[in-house]
Amino acid sequence: MKWENKGHEFDSDAEKIIQSFKDHNEKIYLFGAGRIGHDIGLSMKRYHILGGFIDNNPEKQKGKLLEEQVLSLGQYLENQDRGWIVVTVAGNRENEIENQLIDLGLKKGIDFFSYEDFTMYTFPILSFYKFGILYADIAQISLTERCTLKCRNCAHGCYVVGADRKDLSIEEVYDSADYFFKYVDCVREFVLIGGEPLLYGKLADAIQYIGEKYRDKMGLFSITSNGTIIPEKKVLEMCRKYNVLFRISNYSETIKRLHEKYRQLQKVLEDNGVQYSLGNAEKQWMDYGFETVCREDEEEIARVFDACKTPCREVRGSKYYYCVMARSVSENLGFDIGKCDYMDLKSVEDKKVFFEFNMGYSEKGYLDMCGHCRGSEAVQYPIPVAEQVKVL
Ligand code: SF4
Ligand code: SF4
Repeated sequence: MKWENKGHEFDSDAEKIIQSFKDHNEKIYLFGAGRIGHDIGLSMKRYHILGGFIDNNPEKQKGKLLEEQVLSLGQYLENQDRGWIVVTVAGNRENEIENQLIDLGLKKGIDFFSYEDFTMYTFPILSFYKFGILYADIAQISLTERCTLKCRNCAHGCYVVGADRKDLSIEEVYDSADYFFKYVDCVREFVLIGGEPLLYGKLADAIQYIGEKYRDKMGLFSITSNGTIIPEKKVLEMCRKYNVLFRISNYSETIKRLHEKYRQLQKVLEDNGVQYSLGNAEKQWMDYGFETVCREDEEEIARVFDACKTPCREVRGSKYYYCVMARSVSENLGFDIGKCDYMDLKSVEDKKVFFEFNMGYSEKGYLDMCGHCRGSEAVQYPIPVAEQVKVL
């Protein structure tokens, strides 16, 4: 969106959101006591507004999550102290739960929210205007653009990056974190990525510095890896010490040899007490169309940006990018555009202006790379997962 009323873009929505929160007893219940609920619950607990969890699964109702009781919907309804409900499941189950809530007369956007709408819109506004806390959903530092795989259609364009590409220096990594946390008080997930971040020679130092200074400002602190490298001892130690979640992307459907790699990696992580996640093998990716799409009409490009709502911000030194893909693809695939599509954190005029930028406002109202990207429509262009452009 284009700034029209800089510094006040959310003032009127904020009033409504704060009133609605008050009307819902200033409590939040997360419907879905799984991974998504857990991750969002971590942030909610910091604000002391988590009422508890709701789940349709009787097995889950016997236990607790984040020390909160998991209720059935019936038990929740008996409770006088009702709150906002956030549906923290994805896919078909999300529709099922939303229908359950609608059947009870509850209204989406007033009484309940999808977790995406909540974490990317309603909650950041509530957090900033009511609690004075600048909340961001996801932010990343891309330590290196080098990678051990060469996936066709890599969303960061890393398949063209050679082994001689310079990584961020460790000082740049420290600066990136310092600039980011100068403005952001709470981030749901802070991620070290690449390329393949395990190729970064000073990964342990990066984790230690960021963990020591800023761990209490993050819900999750994570590394996203393709699982081809076993971390060295010092990295494992730092991951354990700072409670880093090691996320392993699962490309074994296409690259069969990764089954064994993942098995070895899981064992090492378990032996060293490092928490990790390895999902089911990914079935398909989407093609953002970076190499085929070319739009020139500014209004159309702005529409693509507005519909996209990517959550993935990137901080790179003092530069804060709204879309990590736009920055990395432009650089790696040689578009060489959008060089000014960032906020310079050396000269932010006001914290509220930073907040609005983080929520999608800018002077232009779009990024140059949106002219070469399908954005939210990419999902209609499925492609195979991690097809290699050459055998390594
Ligand atoms: S493993 Fe990830 S970063 Fe590396 S080329 Fe594949 S998609 Fe890109
Ligand atoms: S449409 Fe723009 S903001 Fe969205 S993913 Fe593409 S380049 Fe990034």
